[in-house]
Amino acid sequence: MPAPGLRPLSASSWAWLHDRTDWGYSNSGLIMSEGQALLVDTQFTLHAAEELLSAVEAVCPREHIGCLVCTHQNGDHTWGNQLLPGAEIITSAAGAAGLCQEMGPEQLTALIHSGRTGAAAAYVARHFAHFDFTGITVMGPTRTFQGREDVKVGTVLVELIDLGAGHSAGDVAVHVPDEGVVFAGDALFSGAHMVVWSGSLSGCIRACQRLLDTGADVFVPGHGPLLDRSGAAEIRDRLSQVAEEATGHARRGVPLADAARRVMAGHASSWAHPERLFTQTAAAYAEAGVAGVPSSTLAMVEGMASLAC
Ligand SMILES: [Zn+2]
Repeated sequence: MPAPGLRPLSASSWAWLHDRTDWGYSNSGLIMSEGQALLVDTQFTLHAAEELLSAVEAVCPREHIGCLVCTHQNGDHTWGNQLLPGAEIITSAAGAAGLCQEMGPEQLTALIHSGRTGAAAAYVARHFAHFDFTGITVMGPTRTFQGREDVKVGTVLVELIDLGAGHSAGDVAVHVPDEGVVFAGDALFSGAHMVVWSGSLSGCIRACQRLLDTGADVFVPGHGPLLDRSGAAEIRDRLSQVAEEATGHARRGVPLADAARRVMAGHASSWAHPERLFTQTAAAYAEAGVAGVPSSTLAMVEGMASLAC
């Protein structure tokens, strides 16, 4: 597997990229100017966060990181927060409100080692058993915002954009307007299908458009390799196609499980994790007003596991 690396993107921006699409290997970002630094997301485990911060030391001392922006509250982006105890932690108000619904490290560890049989337990064990969540204390935001907020890092203007509910209950993007760079969090998955935890596929599509509307040329996705404008537009367009097809199935009364199978048959392509199309289909069903659509994390995992079999 490729080793993660810190890559310069512009005069003041760096991306910590895993260049892999497996669950849990998220990207992070660094913006540094005049002895001040802002970090975007902190990885899944303390080991991964320490690896990131060690690499950051090549650019600036970690003590210079006064501001940490969480693109959303999923553990694979926030469970290293405690390694920056002095930093302000910022996310959107909607993202902070969703924190109480997130699975904690103990719950995830218990689920992995529950010994339960069945497709969902096997799926979780296959994708998460190799991570060590020991010692993690979940640290939520110290400050929230709504809409948009400008932050200065040294002489660099940084725009925090509240994308609303899409991938998660509250997604945030970090934009460096003078350098054409966007850190998109999981509003963009590169080389893999989007997972929708929030039940809003239309929100995911709107978020892609909002990112493109910044005019940026470089997009750091939450997972996978860097994207350019055409890559971000392709993700928007594919989500739109899935939304249209899934909504059609919902209107014709096709059961969700059957619809998800049909959507996967038509849209799997070469991208990783086509089983995540279950979550996109379920989100489209919820938005179409279909009653009884499952929405819990476990139900989404069960749906994905059934498609992955
Ligand atoms: Zn993620």
